[in-house]
Amino acid sequence: MEAMGWGRYPKTTAELIQPANSRALQKFIASQKKSASCIGRGSGRSYGDSALAEQLVSSRFLDNFLELDQQQNVLRCGAGVKLGDILKICIPRGLFLPVLPGAKAVSVGGAIAADVHGKNHHLDGSFCAHVQKISLVLASGELVTCSEQENPELFRATCGGMGLTGVISDATLSLDSIPSSYINQRSLIANNLAECFEHIEDNADSKYSVAWLDCLATDKNLGRSVLYLGEHAESKNMEIDTMYGERFGLGVPFSTPSFLLNKTTMSAFNASYFGAQKKKKRSTTLGYNNYFFPLDRISNWNRLYGSKGFLQYQFVIPSESALDCITTVLEKISEKGKGSFLTVLKKFGESNENLLSFARSGYTLTLDFKNEPTLFSLLEDLDRIVLAHDGRLYLAKDARMSEEMFKKSYPNWEKFMAIKNKYDPKNRFASLQSNRLGLTQ
Ligand SMILES: Cc1cc2nc3c(=O)[nH]c(=O)nc-3n(C[C@H](O)[C@H](O)[C@H](O)COP(=O)(O)OP(=O)(O)OC[C@H]3O[C@@H](n4cnc5c(N)ncnc54)[C@H](O)[C@@H]3O)c2cc1C
Repeated sequence: MEAMGWGRYPKTTAELIQPANSRALQKFIASQKKSASCIGRGSGRSYGDSALAEQLVSSRFLDNFLELDQQQNVLRCGAGVKLGDILKICIPRGLFLPVLPGAKAVSVGGAIAADVHGKNHHLDGSFCAHVQKISLVLASGELVTCSEQENPELFRATCGGMGLTGVISDATLSLDSIPSSYINQRSLIANNLAECFEHIEDNADSKYSVAWLDCLATDKNLGRSVLYLGEHAESKNMEIDTMYGERFGLGVPFSTPSFLLNKTTMSAFNASYFGAQKKKKRSTTLGYNNYFFPLDRISNWNRLYGSKGFLQYQFVIPSESALDCITTVLEKISEKGKGSFLTVLKKFGESNENLLSFARSGYTLTLDFKNEPTLFSLLEDLDRIVLAHDGRLYLAKDARMSEEMFKKSYPNWEKFMAIKNKYDPKNRFASLQSNRLGLTQ
C-alpha cells in the first residue's frame, strides 16, 4: 500500500500489519526472521516520515478500554485508542486527559511515542508526565512493563522514542477531574511580536495558552497575533459537545490544486482573520472540541495543500532568545517570498528526563509550508537560525532534518542509542526518519 504521514510528504510503499490483539502482536514480532524494518503506526497524524517503514505495525485493533478506576482517576487502555474516544468516555464521569494535542484522532501509542504537548505545557508538562505504565512488545517478541519504577531506562527511551524501542500495546494513564467540559476562552490582541510575548508572560498562570500569528505581516506589524487563553468553565454541565465535523460532514474529498494556496491568498486570509478577531468578543465559552481541536472541523484539511503535500516546521528555543530568533525566522520567510498558512506560538515549561522528548523550557513556533522545490533551501536557512539560538525541531513534524542537526540539538541521542542497542541490537524497529537521522542502519 501507499503510505504517508499527515503532511502527505514523503510517500512510500509499505506492508500494513494489523494484529488483532497484543498476543498476535507479540507473535508477529517474534516470528519475523527477515530483515525488513518495521515501526509502530497509530493514526498517521505525525506529519513526516516517523511512522513510515517497510512494515507498519498498526495499533488499529489494539483499541480496547481495559480498566477505568474512577476513585483513583486512572485509565488503562490499548495503544490504538484515540484520545477523542477517551474524552467521550471520561467527560460524562467528570474526568479529562491532562494533555491534549490539536487532533483528537491521535492514538495513545502515538501520543506516548512523540511525548506530545498541549496548550498547557507551561503548567502540566507533556503527555508522558501523566503516563503511569506502558506495556511494550520488544524486538524479541517479549511483552514487558515499563514505568518510572520498573525498567525506568526503557520507559525514558520509549516516552518520546518515536516507536524505536518496540510497539506499545497498552498504557495506564492518570486523568484529571474537571468541573465541566466547556472552556472559558479569553482572547488578547497583540500588534507585534514583543507585545505577544508580554501577553503570554503576563498570563503564564492561565491553564491553556496559545497564540495565532499572522506570519505574513511585516515591519511594525511583524508578529501581530491573537493570544487565546482558556480555563475549564465552572459549571456542572458534562454534556459531550456536538461533533461538528461529523454532523455537518465538512471535509476535503480530494487534493485541491496547490496554486490556490499562494502568498497572496494566504496574506489575504491572515489579514482578514486578524481584522475579524480584533472586532470579536474578547470572552466566550466553547465546547472542548471547538477549543482543543479547531482543525478537526474540516476532515482531511491536509488535502488543501495539493497532491505534493506540505511540511510542518516546529521548533523550540530558550525564552531568552525567543524574540530575536522568531523575528529572524519571520523576516527570512518574508525575504524568501514564502508564507505559512497557519502559525502558532506556545510557551513551554520545564523539560523532562525522556531522552528524545522535544519539549524544553522556552517557546515553540509551528509553521506550515506548501511543499514546493524552493521550500527546502528556506528550511535549511531556518535550521541554521534555530541551531544558532540553541533550538531544536520536533520529530513528530519532521520530514527532512539532517542527521547533523538532529545530533547537535538532541544531546541525549547517544544515551538513547545505548538503550536501543540493548533491546533491539538488530534494529528491527526503524523508520525512514530514524534511518535519515542516523539512529538506525
Ligand atoms: C492537526 C494536528 C494537530 C496536532 N497538534 C499537536 C500538538 O498540539 N502537540 C503535539 O505534540 N503534537 C501535535 N500533533 C502531532 C501528533 O500529536 C503526533 O504526531 C502524534 O505522534 C500522532 O499520533 P498518531 O497516533 O497519529 O501516531 P503516528 O503518526 O501513526 O505515529 C507517530 C509516531 O508514534 C509511533 N507510534 C505510533 N503508535 C505506536 C505504538 N503503538 N507503539 C510504538 N510507537 C508508536 C510511530 O512509530 C511514530 O514514530 C498534531 C497533529 C495534527 C495532524
